[in-house]
Amino acid sequence: SVRVRFAPSPTGNLHVGGARTALFNYLFARSKGGKFVLRIEDTDLERSTRESEAAVLQDLSWLGLDWDEGPGVGGDFGPYRQSERNALYQQYAKKLLESGHVYRCFCSSEELVKMKEIAKLKQLPPVYTGKWATASEAEIEQELEKGTPFTYRFRVPKEGSLKINDLIRGEVCWNLDTLGDFVVMRSNGQPVYNFCVTVDDATMAISHVIRAEEHLPNTLRQALIYKALEFPMPQFAHVSLILAPDRSKLSKRHGATSVGQYREMGYLPQGMVNYLALLGWGDGTENEFFTLEELVEKFSIERVNKSGAIFDSTKLRWMNGQHLRALPIEKLTKLVGERWKSVGILTASEGVFVDEAVELLKDGIDLVTDSEKVLLNLLSYPLHSTLASAEAKPAVEDKLHEVAASLIAAYDSGEIPSALAEGQAGWQKWVKAFGKSLKRKGKSLFMPLRVLLTGKLHGPEMATSIVLIHKAGSLGIVVPQAG
Ligand code: GLU
Repeated sequence: SVRVRFAPSPTGNLHVGGARTALFNYLFARSKGGKFVLRIEDTDLERSTRESEAAVLQDLSWLGLDWDEGPGVGGDFGPYRQSERNALYQQYAKKLLESGHVYRCFCSSEELVKMKEIAKLKQLPPVYTGKWATASEAEIEQELEKGTPFTYRFRVPKEGSLKINDLIRGEVCWNLDTLGDFVVMRSNGQPVYNFCVTVDDATMAISHVIRAEEHLPNTLRQALIYKALEFPMPQFAHVSLILAPDRSKLSKRHGATSVGQYREMGYLPQGMVNYLALLGWGDGTENEFFTLEELVEKFSIERVNKSGAIFDSTKLRWMNGQHLRALPIEKLTKLVGERWKSVGILTASEGVFVDEAVELLKDGIDLVTDSEKVLLNLLSYPLHSTLASAEAKPAVEDKLHEVAASLIAAYDSGEIPSALAEGQAGWQKWVKAFGKSLKRKGKSLFMPLRVLLTGKLHGPEMATSIVLIHKAGSLGIVVPQAG
């Protein structure tokens, strides 16, 4: 049966790359009716924190990637934190020692440094050349008696190669002669990372290891350990890197890279998940819009691309807009209303206003947080400063002073406010009469009107905008002047 895992190291926030790995694992598990396991790789005790673990779990939950086994939910293959699995690592280390796949190495760190230096001078690979791979029982006994500290070293075959069939990259082959005997347990008894991962994946019955390409060198060592412990080898799938637009490795200097940052900026989990899925995957059609459910239905690991995927934050933003507009209108209204309340635009009682505003503004926003900018932009245009507006000037100078003068007069006399009090119908009626009195219609009427009333040449639908502006005024929604 299919069992996959996401294995974050809790040493920081969930990065978009990690989130994509988690997503591909989740999609693979769900599409195959398998299990999605979450394992916390906290062997690096100095850098791992519980806060970071909690943050990673929160980000995964926010994305909707619920796990079947792991912290918080338990499962039959626990514990799910490496720091709680030490007994298991010791047990398998002992097994490797007994079968001769590892040996005790009593070399001091000075000796090891010297070995490396000599190898460098001779231009040889930095492989272990110490005597302990072939030491006699008596030599070993002697050091044990002296209490000399020792590591466990894995006995790597000195020639030949190792091959895996990667589900994304096809055949991957390594020569073994340059690898060298690597340490699986430190002299303080601490098992090393590659050893822990192998024991965990095997004892958690993981069938497919889907992880980032940068782990390929680890895969070689892990594969050797699988063989030595006679564990069945899982299938491997190494996902390509996520790159910045300049094709360098995506990093902080390219802007936001953690899931939490995007959440705080107002992104929706739906938009995020959809965009992450497209980093290296597509369903083979032109379609790019997918819900998580649709992704589960369409996903296949064979379609994951082996070349690097470019992280394009403009496209992510656009994608978020697609999902924002796909939300049921009540949901979007609720999100926007909450946002406006939190930034102080609204108090509690303007529900109808938000309904109308969202209906009007939704096409112009990609993020919930865009909504206040668009609203403020719309509301903060004072009629009387029209003539001073740089954008308005060309239109106004184009013999439109009469429209401006009549409009201001109609506003100041209370004619426009009372028409607007009757909503859109009142406004339409007034506009018609106004146009007649000026002998203007169509573009020659509406263009100056728009410019004069909103300060802009373009914007959302005129009648709705004007009614909304008026409503905001009568509700006492005072907005700061934009720019
Ligand atoms: N803990 C590793 C990481 O955070 C993942 C290891 C793996 O997937 O095998 O990069």
